[in-house]
Amino acid sequence: MIDIGANLTNKRFHQDIDRVLADAKAAQIKHIIVTGTSKTESIAAQQLAAQYPDFLKSTAGVHPHDAKHWGLDSLNTLRQLAMTTEVVALGECGLDFNRNFSSHAEQEQCFSAQLTLAAELNKPVFLHERDAFPRFAAMLGEQIDHLSGAVVHCFTGTEQALKSYLDMGCYIGITGWICDERRGDDLRRIARYIPADRLMVETDAPYLLPRTIKPKPRGGRNEPAFLGHVVATLAQCRNVTVDALVASTTATAQAFFNLA
Ligand SMILES: [Zn+2]
Repeated sequence: MIDIGANLTNKRFHQDIDRVLADAKAAQIKHIIVTGTSKTESIAAQQLAAQYPDFLKSTAGVHPHDAKHWGLDSLNTLRQLAMTTEVVALGECGLDFNRNFSSHAEQEQCFSAQLTLAAELNKPVFLHERDAFPRFAAMLGEQIDHLSGAVVHCFTGTEQALKSYLDMGCYIGITGWICDERRGDDLRRIARYIPADRLMVETDAPYLLPRTIKPKPRGGRNEPAFLGHVVATLAQCRNVTVDALVASTTATAQAFFNLA
């Protein structure tokens, strides 16, 4: 399995990252893409990935929450990071009109600049959209033909949004949201519409601990080692075997991020 999104530079992993990675390997995780969410975190993600060259890769991007800090120095840092062998995608970037930690104008400027950079550098993008579908789809639609690939990470949207992303040629990342009996109903229903060659899986660790894990791990921290819980629920929703889903999502992620 390949975990296409884990926030391993989060402080909740500072104490025991070696153990977390060993557990992930023991749980049949072949690669983890460490998510870069700000200038600082993207540098940290690349440095972490450089320490585990056969196991970790990273993304370089500025999350919409952090868009208020976007500037020319961010752009230059992302460009430099994108030249390294560790960085396999730009992002995470996008729009988040749910939390609004940055203004809509700041988010749009930050998102647009990263799409342009990804097109220029011929790198795929790792995208975040929450409660911003119409504007996000319009902005992405303007650039999509110039992008080498785009994955909408942690997809939790509507059937209509899913269809529109697929029509644009986007890939879809599914997290433990699908394991949530309280709010994952829509996602469980529409997950079968995603073509196997557009579908990837991720933990978004330390967030989104799959609620199907019983008993709940102490501290409630999610880890790449728990990716199998996402895969198990997703396989059920799609009426395919776990083995088949592991094979297809791994092959899709390998090709999308150009992994060895
Ligand atoms: Zn996100």
